[in-house]
Amino acid sequence: MRTARPSILIFYGSLAFMLISFLFTLLVHNSILALSTNLIIAIPVFSGIFAYLVFYFLLKGFIQYRLSLIYRSIQIKQPQNVTFAKSIDSLMEDAEKNVTEWKENSTIEISKLKEQAAFRKEFLGNLAHELKTPVFSIQGYLLTLLDGGLEDPNVNRSFLERASKSTDRITGILEDLDQITRMETENLRLEIRSFDIIELLKESFETFELIAKEKNYQLLFEKTYTSKYVQADRNKLGQVFTNLISNAISYGKENGTLVVSILDINDHFLFEFKDNGPGIEPHHLPRLFERFYRVEKSRNRNEGGSGLGLAIAKHIIESHGQTIQVKSQVGVGTTFVITIEKSKNTGPVSSRGIPLK
Ligand code: ATP
Ligand code: MG
Repeated sequence: MRTARPSILIFYGSLAFMLISFLFTLLVHNSILALSTNLIIAIPVFSGIFAYLVFYFLLKGFIQYRLSLIYRSIQIKQPQNVTFAKSIDSLMEDAEKNVTEWKENSTIEISKLKEQAAFRKEFLGNLAHELKTPVFSIQGYLLTLLDGGLEDPNVNRSFLERASKSTDRITGILEDLDQITRMETENLRLEIRSFDIIELLKESFETFELIAKEKNYQLLFEKTYTSKYVQADRNKLGQVFTNLISNAISYGKENGTLVVSILDINDHFLFEFKDNGPGIEPHHLPRLFERFYRVEKSRNRNEGGSGLGLAIAKHIIESHGQTIQVKSQVGVGTTFVITIEKSKNTGPVSSRGIPLK
């Protein structure tokens, strides 16, 4: 329901004042002093106008003063130059509008803060969980060594090697965390240049040649691609590809395959990394790119990653202004889709970004 405008209220108040003044003038005219008709009309009219002006400016001063206190206490900047330019009605309308806006903004801010608090809690819980496993296993190996294992040539070396593997794992987690934190605070600095992405993909495949062989896993292109030049940070994209390939092999089955296909769409390329692994249940998909998020089955395994790879990948791709998405079907496989901006150069470019003819 809309409240009455202050100027209308003042007008009614002044009318009432005018009426009282008219009655009073009549009373004076009849009992004390005979007045002319003009005066009988003029006195109430003028006192009505006078009352209107006095009420109006007094009330406006009062409202302005109180509003400035309210604006200050809720820390909204008070609209400037309101003294004479604005009517009392628009002063009130502005105040209502500003306070409603403030209330909406505060509600959004509060829910953001709540979300961040929940996220921090979960993050610390996850971090503790991820670090606990390797720390406990180092502790276990060291205690066994101290309890006599050190003198036993059958176990001493292998226990130390296993403890060392666990420290590698801790270092890996800390490096990933360091990277992701730096990305978030420093707004990831990219070294954008033009390069052949097919070459980078081939290099990434080669990195995994041995690991893939152990599982008889095949890393393939959908067809033979000639050079494709993109505009991006080569090292960072390499990191994204490495994680996608390593995920496909780690979570995929023996004799599995990962097929990379490339589509040419206007000013960018669309890369599909399609595996025939176990697939991911739909309810995991919206959270897959969150830090530390792992699908339940892999979380229970002591081996394996920390769930930071895809969070880092998403950060890198989004810093390029591009997108990364996932589609998956349990029992069929998982596909990651990435867009990357095409380069205006269609030939090789020097390390400093100068086209080489
Ligand atoms: P990190 O990459 O940090 O070493 P990670 O591989 O566990 O650890 P992500 O790369 O972020 O972390 O992947 C998150 C989770 O998503 C994985 O733990 C796995 O459960 C699931 N996942 C990722 N890629 C695939 C895939 N191709 N097939 C099935 N599950 C996958
Ligand atoms: Mg991974």
